[in-house]
Amino acid sequence: MLTALALGFVLSTGTPPAQSRALAQIAHNARPPRKTHSITVPIPPASSAVALPTVEGPRDSSRPLVVVDAGHGGHDPGASNAQNGVREKDVTLAIARAIRAKLLATGRIRVALTRDDDRFLVLQERSGIARRLSADLFISIHADAAENLEAHGATVYTLSETASDREAARLAARENKADIINGINLGDQQSDVSSILIDLTQRETMTLSANFARLLQREAAPFVPFRSASHRFASLIVLKAPDTPSVLFETGYISNTQDAAFLESPAGRQRIANGVARAIEVYFARKATAP
Ligand code: ZN
Repeated sequence: MLTALALGFVLSTGTPPAQSRALAQIAHNARPPRKTHSITVPIPPASSAVALPTVEGPRDSSRPLVVVDAGHGGHDPGASNAQNGVREKDVTLAIARAIRAKLLATGRIRVALTRDDDRFLVLQERSGIARRLSADLFISIHADAAENLEAHGATVYTLSETASDREAARLAARENKADIINGINLGDQQSDVSSILIDLTQRETMTLSANFARLLQREAAPFVPFRSASHRFASLIVLKAPDTPSVLFETGYISNTQDAAFLESPAGRQRIANGVARAIEVYFARKATAP
């Protein structure tokens, strides 16, 4: 009991991630006779190692802040098109910048990008930036890939303990792998992430995330070709900020030649940015008028 309480205290005071997981593991192994609140799955503390990006837009800090995350980067190119070599990390950065420009043009929304160049960030640093900035919304931009080169269209993912279908599970496995290089896990999550435990405090955030995912489908559909089942669920590490509504937007299939051309073209990026910005505006307008 004493051990459990002491560990609970240590976990809640910003122990470095690797250490806190080790402590949690010790606590788990020690198996205290009774369950206490102090031993739960640790919510990883936001990493303070990465410099915070600049927040752009209106100076009024009461304006909503959106953090846009360009997936992959640096040594991690993400998926690529086998024919023309278009890489996910380049496409996501260009799309994130287009979304930022569109949002800044509204004059009503503050924006920060997790990366504005070709750098690598571990998954938790991405959501950690959103948490440290107290962002109101986190959108991680990606492009899908499949062996079936005919597969095409956009999908929005939100967090869930278990995947909505086999394909969503495969996608989570692939996107979560970004932290693993040469077998070394650069993040502090276990590499086996077939299931992510979700804290109760996260439920409300998950509802808001799902609301935004539905809006994104509705508002972006006139601009971006979506798949038929376009809102799916998966245990994606990058979406696990407990207090920031978060979605992962697979903007299309980079493995499909037509989608890759759309994602790579300035016109395609513009259409994606239009759709995302419209959804964001509606989302915050609704929040502002909610009772
Ligand atoms: Zn990706």
